[in-house]
Amino acid sequence: MRWSGQKLQAEQPSALPGLARLNNLVRSVQTPEFAGITFHEILAKSSLNKVPSQSAMPFSYTINPYRGCSHACVYCFARTTHEYLGLDTGRDFDSEIIVKVNVAEVLRTELAKPTWGRHPVALGSNTDPYQRAEGRYRLMPGIIAALAESGTPFSILTKGTLLRRDLDLLVEANRVVPVDLAMSIAIYDDELQQSIEPGTPSTTARLATVTAVRERGLDCGVFLMPILPFLTDTKAHLDEALRRAADAGATNVLYAPLNLRPAVKDWYLQWLGRDHPELVEQYRSLFSGGTYAAKEYRTWLAARILPLIRAHGLERGREDPATGGIRSRALDPLLAAELPASLTPTLF
Ligand code: SF4
Repeated sequence: MRWSGQKLQAEQPSALPGLARLNNLVRSVQTPEFAGITFHEILAKSSLNKVPSQSAMPFSYTINPYRGCSHACVYCFARTTHEYLGLDTGRDFDSEIIVKVNVAEVLRTELAKPTWGRHPVALGSNTDPYQRAEGRYRLMPGIIAALAESGTPFSILTKGTLLRRDLDLLVEANRVVPVDLAMSIAIYDDELQQSIEPGTPSTTARLATVTAVRERGLDCGVFLMPILPFLTDTKAHLDEALRRAADAGATNVLYAPLNLRPAVKDWYLQWLGRDHPELVEQYRSLFSGGTYAAKEYRTWLAARILPLIRAHGLERGREDPATGGIRSRALDPLLAAELPASLTPTLF
């Protein structure tokens, strides 16, 4: 469907008051296949977001086809982006999903401008482009095609196994532009994973996606992020995680410890209080300095995990940083751990 000719409709009986600020809202939709979720379809005016020039990130632009994410990771740092609409950063972030239905069309227009410099573009740096909504809206095929046809290198980071649907397209794109793919897989304890990432595909399914990507001849990194203090930072868990990533064929692994922005911290601590009340005080102490875990913890974690990453042969990565993807100076594990939350990769 082409969206450029769509008229704005006031068909949004379930729209929340804050959404009135979206003057480009087309409609709000609820369907039985997505129980509990409302999609707010908007006509985006732009698709490419410029990364601030002072950023240390290796890509210059990002695309976010969706705002909010039904993967519903409790620790998700992107939760704060829902605040500006008057939506809450907890349940609303998981269930009130903004969909830029015309994103591919707008992108094509932007990429066709003579001034477009074919800068590396990152998808998945904020919310997940292969969250469940993508099964309904199919925005990614148009985005991938537009980027490839314009000669623009790009990277995709996701927890969504729906990526497999687009593998043919991604293989084609990789013939003409550098394409970097990475799966975010942080938790290798099934019960914990279902509790803290309730809307995501299982760890096993995501590892199978890594294998599927590798079998098509593409690189695929694993983002072991975030590592949860006192929950997933044991040597046994990290070793098992890296073993399974290596067995799945991961090209490399990047890691980062949990960080908690203020609005996210409340949501996370509520979850912790329900599932692991014995850890609440330890977390309050560890994050007493603000968003980041105490420096001593981060140093300790680095000393624990880096030898394991090396031992599993998962240090290597692409030498060519053209995509700004999985192996670059700015995404070096140590540096990534030190970056401000707004600059770190999406922690899924
Ligand atoms: S961490 Fe990623 S996958 Fe999880 S809710 Fe946030 S954007 Fe979605």
